[in-house]
Amino acid sequence: MSKYWSSLVENLKPYVPGEQPKMANLVKLNTNENPFGPSPKVIEAIQKELNDNLRLYPDPESKALKEAIAHYYTDHGIKPKQVFVGNGSDEVLAHIFQGLLKQDKPILFPDITYSFYPVYCSLYQVESETIPLTDSFEIDPADYKRPNGGIIFPNPNAPTGRFMVLQHVVEILEANPDSVVVVDEAYVDFGGETAITLVNDYPNLVVSQTLSKARSLAGLRVGFAVADEELIEALNRVKDSFNSYPLDRLALVGAVAAFEDNQWFEDSCNGVINERERLTEKLEELGFEVLPSKANFVFTRHKEKAGADIAASLREQGIIVRHFDKPRISDFLRITIGTSDQNNSLIKALSEL
Ligand SMILES: *Cc1c(COP(=O)(O)O)cnc(C)c1O
Repeated sequence: MSKYWSSLVENLKPYVPGEQPKMANLVKLNTNENPFGPSPKVIEAIQKELNDNLRLYPDPESKALKEAIAHYYTDHGIKPKQVFVGNGSDEVLAHIFQGLLKQDKPILFPDITYSFYPVYCSLYQVESETIPLTDSFEIDPADYKRPNGGIIFPNPNAPTGRFMVLQHVVEILEANPDSVVVVDEAYVDFGGETAITLVNDYPNLVVSQTLSKARSLAGLRVGFAVADEELIEALNRVKDSFNSYPLDRLALVGAVAAFEDNQWFEDSCNGVINERERLTEKLEELGFEVLPSKANFVFTRHKEKAGADIAASLREQGIIVRHFDKPRISDFLRITIGTSDQNNSLIKALSEL
């Protein structure tokens, strides 16, 4: 602490990202990166952009990328003006908190969810109320029928991996016509169903997605939101009061190329899904309970052994998974789906425990 700090900074409890250790031969299953890597077309596009143009500012409106995203969702009638892009979906979410969720009444989110939400609440001084997940770690739409200043949840939820059917999302939307409902779809491409199909029916719906997970571009920092034009306009106002150029030239061309290589994207998602199903089976054979996951990770606990102990033993063998020391989930581990080899190392280490 320093006397030069603002009182806001003094009271912040910043988000702690999963660690990125610099150990050799690490089996890194702790931050939900995609082990299959980005499309070669993305690398090519970025290499082509490495030229003297870097002295020029990028397009402040990221027009080409908005068009690529709208085109990808063209079957659902999405127009470029309904797309907002940012430096990772974390930045998009931050602008959503400041521009759409800061209201007179508290916003609602699940008790077990993405731990960045309470951090944005403290940064932007948004009041919040947490709603417990059910005993089976599901979101019950009936719990979201109460006065609120907005609602946000990931679907699939993190770190549980559980997916809520769109019918239930609709139930929440219909019960809350006066609030913005944000569906954070960071993991939707691993077997979920996107609520972007609902955007043109619900002017209060915002769907956010990222290129970090399914498109394997966590290092490029690109995220986006799709919503009614008026909600997007709010986000543009926040963005243009904060940073006119959140996406650099390399990120822009790389992201556009990612949306142009569907085959790579689909193969990569299917690879993750197949490994997830295989790992789930193996874990169950080893006495783990695994929540049904539609994400690129599983949330699992052993029937006898403590989560923290398992995480520590794995670590000694160079395998890093995520453990949250929090109420209700302290015995769970969140394990990112790796390559077959990585998953085999994990299974081997667990069976020797
Ligand atoms: C990973 C993740 C994000 C953020 O991803 P970015 O890398 O910032 O695009 C957002 N929400 C959830 C639930 C996530 O797990």
